[in-house]
Amino acid sequence: MFIFDAHLDLAMNAQEWNRDLTRPLDEIRQREHGLADRPDRGRGTVCLPELRRGNIGLVVATQIARYAKPSHPLGGWHSPAQAWAMTQGQLAWYRAMEEAGEMVQVKDRAGLEKHLDRWKTPENPVSLPPENAAPQPIGYILSLEGADSIITLNHLERSCEQGLRAVGPAHYGPGTYAFGTDSDGGIGARGRELLTEMDRLHLILDATHLCDTSFREALEVFQGPLWASHSNARSLTPHNRQFSDNQLKELFRRGAVIGAPLDAWMMIPGWVRGQTTPQGTQLKLEKMAEHIDYICQLAGNARHSGIGTDLDGGFGREQSPMDLNSIADLQRLPELLHKRGYKNGDVESILHGNFLRFLREAWKW
Ligand SMILES: [Zn+2]
Repeated sequence: MFIFDAHLDLAMNAQEWNRDLTRPLDEIRQREHGLADRPDRGRGTVCLPELRRGNIGLVVATQIARYAKPSHPLGGWHSPAQAWAMTQGQLAWYRAMEEAGEMVQVKDRAGLEKHLDRWKTPENPVSLPPENAAPQPIGYILSLEGADSIITLNHLERSCEQGLRAVGPAHYGPGTYAFGTDSDGGIGARGRELLTEMDRLHLILDATHLCDTSFREALEVFQGPLWASHSNARSLTPHNRQFSDNQLKELFRRGAVIGAPLDAWMMIPGWVRGQTTPQGTQLKLEKMAEHIDYICQLAGNARHSGIGTDLDGGFGREQSPMDLNSIADLQRLPELLHKRGYKNGDVESILHGNFLRFLREAWKW
């Protein structure tokens, strides 16, 4: 079955983790043998061949770079200009992938339908391109995770011209335009300006990572389409990173689709990074089906649930379900959802249909 993944940090992996994502997964892991600079070395689960193998033909791919004042708890670039340059470098990698035929940017409705036609194989939903065939390009929708790199509103307009289609104003900690995960505060004058300009440019608001106060204020100011690209429910995993039932209901009311992530600490309570293990907790992909089911039950339908794995978003196999070796294993989700009683139509909605409907309705281009 065709899968839409609403959150992958592909360029970040290419440039900060130094992963050539055009290569086979085994080879990428091999080249990280002996490296200890990051906990997920040698444990990545995402590359372009695996996306193809898993029939994950369309993804939301991020630009991501944090600006950090000296007091920022997590650190980051020391000026917005450096953060901007980083995101522009990430865009340059996506462009290189386009030139190589590995990826294609999807930024309007015509491009979306053309790309879906390219991947359409109704009688063989998991078709593999023949050996030696040119690689099927992975479609990507450009998104910005944390807006600190937007130096001025003019930079937002320039990004929009480059194909940017969704913006999450905050990431972790206090940001220029909103407060993110593990911090608290309102959006302020600059956040208001950004959201108003996003409305004017018809950009999608990504509510993921907004702290509760910024979430409330952002939804008051912003009138356009919004989604939550990679968020779970606070009822199942109590932490400010996830959404409360009331927030989820507000998102449903606004027509949002919520992508379910596969970062272990967001899937089960009490995860301690570097200590808890998938094996020790017997965390499996079935847990993702449970989170999806929770969203559907709360909404009373299957129209607001989607996939937003965040795989390789700063973690690898040490912090994801133990029965997932590569992102292609997402193809086991239909079976897991069927076991929970989901009919084919609803499974298709969750795996791609909801986000596609959202884009067809939201995009003015
Ligand atoms: Zn994130």
